[in-house]
Amino acid sequence: MAKPSTDDELVFLPLGGSNEIGMNFNLYGFGPAHDRRWVVVDLGVTFGDQTTPGVEVILPDPTYIEEYADRILGIVLTHAHEDHIGAVAWLWPRLKAPIYATPFTAFVLREKLREADLLDEVEINVVPLGGTISLGPFEMELITLTHSIPEPNGLAIKTALGTILHTGDWKIDPDPLLGAPTDQDAIRRLGDEGVLAMVCDSTNVFVDGHAGSEADVRKTLIPLIGGFKGRVAVACFASNVARMDSVIRAAEANGRRVCLVGRSMHRMAAAAKSVGLMVDVKPFIEDSEARHLPPHAVLYLCTGSQGEPRAALARIADGTHPAVKLGAGDACVFSSRVIPGNEIPIRNLQNKLTENGVRLYTERDHPGIHVSGHPCRDELAEMYAWARPTIAVPTHGERRHLMEHAAFARDLQVPQQVTPRNGDMVRLAPGRAAIVDEVPAGRLYVDGGMVTVENGDALRERRHAASNGVVAVSVVLDGKNKIVSGPQVRALGLPSEPDYPLEDILDDLADEAEQALGRLRGEDRDLDESIETALSRAVKKASQRIWGRRPVVETTVLRL
Ligand SMILES: [Zn+2]
Ligand SMILES: [Zn+2]
Repeated sequence: MAKPSTDDELVFLPLGGSNEIGMNFNLYGFGPAHDRRWVVVDLGVTFGDQTTPGVEVILPDPTYIEEYADRILGIVLTHAHEDHIGAVAWLWPRLKAPIYATPFTAFVLREKLREADLLDEVEINVVPLGGTISLGPFEMELITLTHSIPEPNGLAIKTALGTILHTGDWKIDPDPLLGAPTDQDAIRRLGDEGVLAMVCDSTNVFVDGHAGSEADVRKTLIPLIGGFKGRVAVACFASNVARMDSVIRAAEANGRRVCLVGRSMHRMAAAAKSVGLMVDVKPFIEDSEARHLPPHAVLYLCTGSQGEPRAALARIADGTHPAVKLGAGDACVFSSRVIPGNEIPIRNLQNKLTENGVRLYTERDHPGIHVSGHPCRDELAEMYAWARPTIAVPTHGERRHLMEHAAFARDLQVPQQVTPRNGDMVRLAPGRAAIVDEVPAGRLYVDGGMVTVENGDALRERRHAASNGVVAVSVVLDGKNKIVSGPQVRALGLPSEPDYPLEDILDDLADEAEQALGRLRGEDRDLDESIETALSRAVKKASQRIWGRRPVVETTVLRL
């Protein structure tokens, strides 16, 4: 490796993932400040919630690095979870660098790019597990880890100023069922050679002990499913192929055929088969076939464990799924955890299922039917003992996770800790690690299929309308500003009561609007803008009196 020149620096810049769990977007830069070469590690999304009505997908804002897009040597993807690859189809056109990924991740990505009509444009380089990638000043080596999806990779990023171990998402699963266990030897070897900095998963830093093994989940599921007499639905993340495989084995062991319900189940099964996983399972049956089998002979493997309204399980609970019905005597196993933020939709889903007579089995009352894919404290301690980094850089967490992780690393005698926020540029070498710059970092909202700014006008208006309703007022005037028709008022999403029915309310609002027009004087009477303002003010004021709130008011002035 070439010797560094005196003004070379090695920097880490998170543009996502370091204020939240999700939206991972990490950059590593090498060179003098005015001429850095960059490698991007992961480009993921996070998801909207009740506070972002209509916004399902949230992206990291790439504006800062877009300016240097021609200096991005590559985009390396650690694994195929949405929070690591979900933004590629949205943001790749703004970065346009070649992509590097292992076979399973590449397969999943290609499907997404095909849907986005980008497949022909994007260069995807498939790297074998444990393979290397050489990009300018960066020599990278993939390190096989274990997680909750096939092919999770850590990344050893070697430069003339030191080696970074970017862990990606990981846990230490001694028996991951599919794929190899964690490559401890490789990590120890890196530790022997010297790791300058470890950029590491913080998700479970508040949890003591170990995350547990996929093999234990399989051992729990087989007898559990053996005890059921009726239909069984099991919900899990489709991307957890080892879990899918365990559910399938548990079904087969108990004489049940498996029916996949939900698009992503089919997709992930195809991705798994493309890399030689799940090839020796019995063929899945169609839901049209499953409905004709006796209840004890079928198991539905479903999407929707997070209460997603359009996913398979929600439609089954609502009774709107065309082929799959669950009722009294049937069981539903949630082989998943509650992702923070999804508590309410999951509770609603579970209430509906129990209302229909379905028995529920969740992680809470049946420990062992789920394990996390992220390292708990004992695993973090082991990883630090193997890699022995000089600098701990916690990532993949909210602020509280990152701070706790830094304190934990300090307790483990890691000499330096840095906890950047998204947009904080960390100089890792030369010299002591420090935040040396702050660059713009933020979020973009995918709203109605369009990439928009965070909390833009459309979303603000929609939130306002959702809480306060909408009133539309229109009036038709002639050339002399005399009212020909109206004002006509319509209300959307606003309440009424028997003593004060909606038609009376609308009449009152129309009266107020008309009086406001009558009060206009001078040139205000000619200007549409003044007329609209007067109508809007009058209606808002009346709404305040009637409902104690200020709806969104839409005014229209038409002239004959
Ligand atoms: Zn992740
Ligand atoms: Zn992950």
